[in-house]
Amino acid sequence: MERLVSKEEIRQAVSEARREGKRIAFVPTMGALHEGHLTLVRAARERADFIVVSVFVNPTQFGPGEDFEAYPRVIERDMDLLGAEGVDVLFNPAPEIMYAADARVTVDPGPLGSVLEGATRPGHFAGVCTVVTKLFSIVLPDLAFFGEKDFQQLAVVRLLVRDLDLPVKVVGCPTAREDDGLARSSRNVYLSADERAAAPVLYRAMTAASCLAAAGERSARALADVMRAEIAAEPLAALDYAEVVDAATLEPLETLGEAPARALVAVRIGATRLIDNLALEVR
Ligand code: AMP
Repeated sequence: MERLVSKEEIRQAVSEARREGKRIAFVPTMGALHEGHLTLVRAARERADFIVVSVFVNPTQFGPGEDFEAYPRVIERDMDLLGAEGVDVLFNPAPEIMYAADARVTVDPGPLGSVLEGATRPGHFAGVCTVVTKLFSIVLPDLAFFGEKDFQQLAVVRLLVRDLDLPVKVVGCPTAREDDGLARSSRNVYLSADERAAAPVLYRAMTAASCLAAAGERSARALADVMRAEIAAEPLAALDYAEVVDAATLEPLETLGEAPARALVAVRIGATRLIDNLALEVR
């Protein structure tokens, strides 16, 4: 696998692959790769002939006081994992390659950018939309793979592609979890042993809501309350939000029914903020 650091190199590698008639898949990441990222890579392999993965810790999607500096950076290990998965090229640019010092145009995520994650992390989705638009323009993939783990990000990226007519097909992939239900995340390495033991509370809360929905509860408020109670019962967990929303629009739901529903939670465990989500199916 080649590690490319400039826009010119990656453009050339992709255009050569395209000249050979290959279908190009792209998996954007911030590195510190785990099984969740690798499921995206494997899904990409199934659908395309040339796989590009980016590892770029994007400064513009981190707010002041967030973990940009602390975010784990383990590029040698990432390269080993990606090489073993048969990835063709790694795009691993430095921030100053991605962003000119005087760059001033950004991409507005629209109203979805200011709810849920966007309410707690102002500017986060503008950073995501801007970097994803730039990466798509540099790589020019046919297909791009994103995890349901970041459900709102997936929804925002789908709208970005639809509303700006970006010529790429977005593919969503299910969340990879640890045996106890904790969603795999690069941020899980921040957790102490006690915090790690408390972290499955997110999955437990959503599963409680999902069981209740399957048993016939249709009130979104009742389902959200069950999640909040479960999280409140874990002393190391501080609730940020626990909501039941329309899975397509992420708008609040009153009653489960026709539209697919999704539970979304964000919880702080010590200094670490974890997010997760789960489909809620009515019987
Ligand atoms: P990140 O490196 O955290 O920016 O994630 C890169 C991509 O991997 C995003 O599309 C994430 O949604 C996806 N991803 C992260 N964790 C998981 C997981 N546990 N299961 C599936 N996809 C994931």
